[in-house]
Amino acid sequence: MIIRHCICGNEFSVAARYKNYILPEFPVIGSTKCLIDYIRAQPYKASTPRTIVSSFLSPPHIYYEPLQKWFRSVFEGVFAQWLNWHKIAYRYEELTLSIHGREYTPDFYLPHNGLFIELKGLWSGGAKAKTIATKAAGTNLLLLPYYFDHYCRQDLYQGEDSEIFKCRL
Ligand SMILES: [Zn+2]
Repeated sequence: MIIRHCICGNEFSVAARYKNYILPEFPVIGSTKCLIDYIRAQPYKASTPRTIVSSFLSPPHIYYEPLQKWFRSVFEGVFAQWLNWHKIAYRYEELTLSIHGREYTPDFYLPHNGLFIELKGLWSGGAKAKTIATKAAGTNLLLLPYYFDHYCRQDLYQGEDSEIFKCRL
């Protein structure tokens, strides 16, 4: 396990295999409560650089039964369900950015504040460099590593009476 500091200041622990997915360029978020706080605190910011019409993206290939929609990973499906549960509107893979002449379509876009969210379970190809370059170009982009899948499931399956998952060791 490794210890990291959430944006709230609290420490949290995650498996060491996520070390390469918690990057200094991005806010570190250690609980669903802090993610909700972070999303609510974001003022609207138009996506920068400009969005373009997406060129062909291969269609998502994983059917997520609870939402009866297609995603690229179960983590994405769980996260979409979690956004629904918290009544946070989102668009999935609808906006494509042009970053230094290359196209990049972040996973989620929250239209009320212009926040892009990239979920990441595995870096492949030049994905890590592209994600960092997108942030560096001024895009309001949040990176959520795969450990967040567990947090979202805890929220979703503890029932509506439970508190959302708070930072803790
Ligand atoms: Zn926190």
